[in-house]
Amino acid sequence: MPVPDYALLLDPPAFPAERYAALADRLAALMGTENDVLLIQAEAVLALEAAATSLARPGLRALNIVTSPYGAWFGGWLERGGATVRNLTASPAKPVTLKEVEQALDEGPDFDLLAIVHAESASGILNPLPAIAALARQRGIVTLVDAVASIGGHAFEADRLGIDIAVIGPQKALAGPAGVSAISVSEKAWELLSHGGAPDNSMLSLLDQKKLWLDAGRGALPGTPAPLEFYALEAALDRIEAEGLASANERHERAAAATRNGIRALGIPTWVEEPHASALVSTAILPDTVEAKTFLAAASQKHGADITAGVGPGAERLIRLNHTGRRAHPEAVKANIVAFSSALKSLGHAADTDSALEATEKAYFDADPNRV
Ligand SMILES: *Cc1c(COP(=O)(O)O)cnc(C)c1O
Repeated sequence: MPVPDYALLLDPPAFPAERYAALADRLAALMGTENDVLLIQAEAVLALEAAATSLARPGLRALNIVTSPYGAWFGGWLERGGATVRNLTASPAKPVTLKEVEQALDEGPDFDLLAIVHAESASGILNPLPAIAALARQRGIVTLVDAVASIGGHAFEADRLGIDIAVIGPQKALAGPAGVSAISVSEKAWELLSHGGAPDNSMLSLLDQKKLWLDAGRGALPGTPAPLEFYALEAALDRIEAEGLASANERHERAAAATRNGIRALGIPTWVEEPHASALVSTAILPDTVEAKTFLAAASQKHGADITAGVGPGAERLIRLNHTGRRAHPEAVKANIVAFSSALKSLGHAADTDSALEATEKAYFDADPNRV
């Protein structure tokens, strides 16, 4: 592949001030919300830290659901700000169950905030968000959802679910840039955010964003925004809107179904059952006889594959096959299956690549028999 001329990225014109509001509106439409949407000039982890830091105060009681390192960090940021945090940690690398959440809510105290990750690319799981959001809503608890990985890969409609704060980034299923992110904020969430100890004159302050951008008429963003990131976000939104969000979700679901079929055809168990599996990455359990490090080294040699170890407690022995964003496509799915199978074979484990490929194709065919 020829090396692109990166000098073309130099000296870009400023992003036009009048186009930021349109970007926020388009992101709001993707999130299914009429709430305020803030543009955060940083990667999504900073948006999460900003939300936690802005909410945190002594006296705030939070139920923080932990299903990956992201959730663990979130609880830590809340505690740093003096909040009382009950971390509800799911079984290692598994989704939280509705029963666990219900029990924690019943045990109390009366929580002000419930925080959860929608889908995890760290372990390939999907949390039962709609049912959990309904529980929180019944009890009048403000909800915060990390939908960074799920947006564009799973149905996520913030207003229909009653999500007060949603954090998203374009760099996963939306296949956009990693240097910007967005946060939607409901009226109820603004009330919780408006407290005496809230940070100000800070990149982590949501109230600053409200004052300096929302209330100022949504023109130029404060500071010197990185124009390349915003042009890239605009292009990513053009592409995803042209495809349609429902179709992007479907593309991810099909890639997951095809990947899982292929893995199982190799005689390898998948980590979680269908309803609990994310559509972003699929996770498989390596046989005990196969050493993970050697396997990953072998799998990564195959062109077009993206196979890595799981991240976080309980996920270390899991193997992730990535089918997020542009990779949610038959060619990338098949490249992963071929790499997985070849790596098994190279380590002396029996594997039939042809029948695994047939199984992936069958999943695509079953989803759409008219596809050529
Ligand atoms: C990817 C992701 C983020 C953003 O983190 P990076 O690893 O820095 O891209 C946040 N939350 C979740 C659930 C993610 O999957």
